[in-house]
Amino acid sequence: MEQPICLVGIGKIAVDQHVPAIANSPDWTLAATVSRAGTVDGVPSYSDFDAMLVERDDIRTVSLCLPPVPRYDYAVRAIAAGRNVMLEKPPGATLAEVQDLTTRAAANGVTLYTTWHSRMAKGVAAAKAFLADKTITSGYIDWREDVRRWHPEQEWVFEPGGMGVFDPGINALSILTDVLPRPVHITSALLNFPENRFTPIAAEVAFSENLTMTLDWLKDGQQMWEMILRAGDDQVHLSEGGNRCVINGTEVAGSVLDEYPALYDQMARLVSSGASEVDLAPMIHVADAMTLGKRVTVAPFSF
Ligand code: NAP
Repeated sequence: MEQPICLVGIGKIAVDQHVPAIANSPDWTLAATVSRAGTVDGVPSYSDFDAMLVERDDIRTVSLCLPPVPRYDYAVRAIAAGRNVMLEKPPGATLAEVQDLTTRAAANGVTLYTTWHSRMAKGVAAAKAFLADKTITSGYIDWREDVRRWHPEQEWVFEPGGMGVFDPGINALSILTDVLPRPVHITSALLNFPENRFTPIAAEVAFSENLTMTLDWLKDGQQMWEMILRAGDDQVHLSEGGNRCVINGTEVAGSVLDEYPALYDQMARLVSSGASEVDLAPMIHVADAMTLGKRVTVAPFSF
């Protein structure tokens, strides 16, 4: 049976992914939106989140699609009002605020889901299953895209808490931390900060187990979201952001659902069982890269 859900923050990802995923979901009906400016045709819209929480007692679940910095305050209010909360990635601006939300959700008996959409990419489950009993010997991540194409005029990505190139890079880290049989840790990082910005636009990161990661947000032409993981003679190649998986040269069949439908499917399962799912592992790597990273100033950036 479909349950009403409210989408908060009608921006790029809400329109591109959340609205269609909910429209096609057997579990959810988009019953309201909260936005300062955006609306969704045929759906009641609110500009005041607290008014929606008071007036729409029928809506027990909210999905927060705001950027990370403003999201925490919305999550606190939703949890206090007894609502289940689904968080876009990254789940917060800081680790501590997500830990705080976790405590609040448990105290209020509601579901908190820190979504990682790339973990739902079609090839990830097969990679994880194959690597489960292996020992990683080396590997690399190559995540190169054009920020002007994917985040047009989104100044928040270069503001404190916006994470810069780690905004897409954390998608790679969400896959890595899901498929590895044992956790790794960052051993060094080089971060390129445009001289007029607060967050990095490129990064080179080294991990234990001979893993490396290149993040580049100024890639022209063919975009690249690749990961190679080796375990002795075995090799797993995830490409297209985890949506294709080739194991030892043979392409394997992927999961059935696309990323966002799979997230809403999981949220329905969590709510029906009264469980939460909170995983900060990808964000811990970003925090560590920022802590350990050597900073280099590079040319200014403008959209
Ligand atoms: P966005 O379009 O720039 O912002 C989303 C919406 O958040 C805005 O339209 C605005 O909604 C609201 N908002 C922004 N700043 C706010 C503030 N200070 N206070 C209150 N509301 C504010 O961003 P996005 O690309 O959708 O990204 C949102 C989240 O999704 C990020 O965490 C991002 O990492 C994640 N994500 C993005 C993509 C992508 O390709 N863009 C892909 C996957 C995940 P209203 O104007 O409606 O109030």
